[in-house]
Amino acid sequence: MSFTLQTGVREECGVFGIYNCEKENVARDICYGLTALQHRGQEACGIAVVDTDGPLGQAGCRKGLGLVNEVFHEENTDQLQGNLGIGHVRYSTTGSPTAENIQPLVLKYHKGVLCLAHNGNLINTQSLRRKLQETGAVFQTTMDSEVISLLIARERLQTSSVEEAIRRTAAQIRGAYALVILSPRKLIGVRDPLGLRPLCLGKKGKSWILASESCAINAVGGEFIRDIEPGEIITITGSDMHSRNIFQKKTQDGTAVKPPACAHCIFEYIYFARLDSYIDGISVYEARLKGGAALARTFPVPADVVTGVPDSGLVAAMGYAREAGIPFSLLFHKNSYVGRTFIKPTQKERENSVRMKLSVIEPAVKGKRIILVDDSIVRGTTIRNLIGMLKKAGAREVHVRISSPPFLYPCYFGTDVPSNRQLIASSRSSAEIQQEIGADSLAYMPVFALSEMVGRLSICTACFTGSYPMDISSEITQDR
Ligand code: AMP
Repeated sequence: MSFTLQTGVREECGVFGIYNCEKENVARDICYGLTALQHRGQEACGIAVVDTDGPLGQAGCRKGLGLVNEVFHEENTDQLQGNLGIGHVRYSTTGSPTAENIQPLVLKYHKGVLCLAHNGNLINTQSLRRKLQETGAVFQTTMDSEVISLLIARERLQTSSVEEAIRRTAAQIRGAYALVILSPRKLIGVRDPLGLRPLCLGKKGKSWILASESCAINAVGGEFIRDIEPGEIITITGSDMHSRNIFQKKTQDGTAVKPPACAHCIFEYIYFARLDSYIDGISVYEARLKGGAALARTFPVPADVVTGVPDSGLVAAMGYAREAGIPFSLLFHKNSYVGRTFIKPTQKERENSVRMKLSVIEPAVKGKRIILVDDSIVRGTTIRNLIGMLKKAGAREVHVRISSPPFLYPCYFGTDVPSNRQLIASSRSSAEIQQEIGADSLAYMPVFALSEMVGRLSICTACFTGSYPMDISSEITQDR
């Protein structure tokens, strides 16, 4: 991923869970899994573990602000003893970046300990929180994940299993969620009914694994088994695994409740997910190659070389180059040692950070007509700076191709796109943006071409089209 913290759009979170049936400690594997998911959030991370033979109300937990390798080292990881555990990497989308807002959430309720890690964003948190508060609930964080935990704990008073409590909770919450829950003898994974956020299942020897992306299963030496279905609640109890669906419930006349159509987040494929992951049966790498090829077919232009913005635009650029029959060339060197702390979210610092992170390889640029591919334009800072650098190094022409449509609408499901005011595309035409960034031509992926990336997968494109996969109007006016 090229620029994460400094760009203003904030990405989501990553979740990981593991149950070792041979009673071996799992904290190290969680660390490795979270490290593989680090691209999904760099602000904070945490791990919670239990011993499935130990006391029901006891969990070991460690959390902190920073990267996984800053918060966890050998010694403090090995202190977390337990064969069942979950972990989380966070970039806040709701709730402020304070210590109490770091996940997993660990709650003690009448059945013992309940730990929860959440990726996604609910749209009806405020009204649910209000209702819970009116009946005496006390909240310690500002996260919507705490609302989910409290609802599960409450419903559990009336239900015979935690899964049924989760199902009843799912009927009340609206929005995007991929959850891993530890309760205290079970590992449970839940995916929202639209499948907005990813979650998959893997196995490593005698361990079951749940993870946001398959790259995390590979990182611990495990084997990918399958994606969790939209609306699925999967329970792992030792060597047993059970699956049920939020929609297994029947209506009063006995017919099954029809699940809504899926709406997988297309931005996972465009930007968020790691290149080596598969999500809902589709390789992220191949989706990006196909996106680049679709751009080349739709918006060809004569040029000498095609290049991508490292790292997020590279694969789409390769796809473009291959389709157009124009050589792909690396024109930027990326300095991988620019620390996160170096980067501050003011506009001036954003500009500096582009130059600190990327420099032009001058001999490859001089006199060339260049096609420059990136996955998205948010404020335009990155692309404007890079075009300036290419032109200064002697580029004859720079044609920009973006492998997503213009960002125009807010995402309520976990992709924290900045307010419309900051989105360059919300107030300017393509021609105006082209002029502002200094490009010789500019073209964005058309919305209709997104399906070329993912075939027949049913996707959410709301941030580009404003067409939301669920009714948000009542919630947003009530909640925000
Ligand atoms: P900007 O410089 O504000 O136009 O931001 C564009 C850059 O931000 C591109 O290089 C993208 O790869 C990157 N980007 C896009 N979406 C996100 C996101 N959600 N979080 C962090 N970076 C992003």
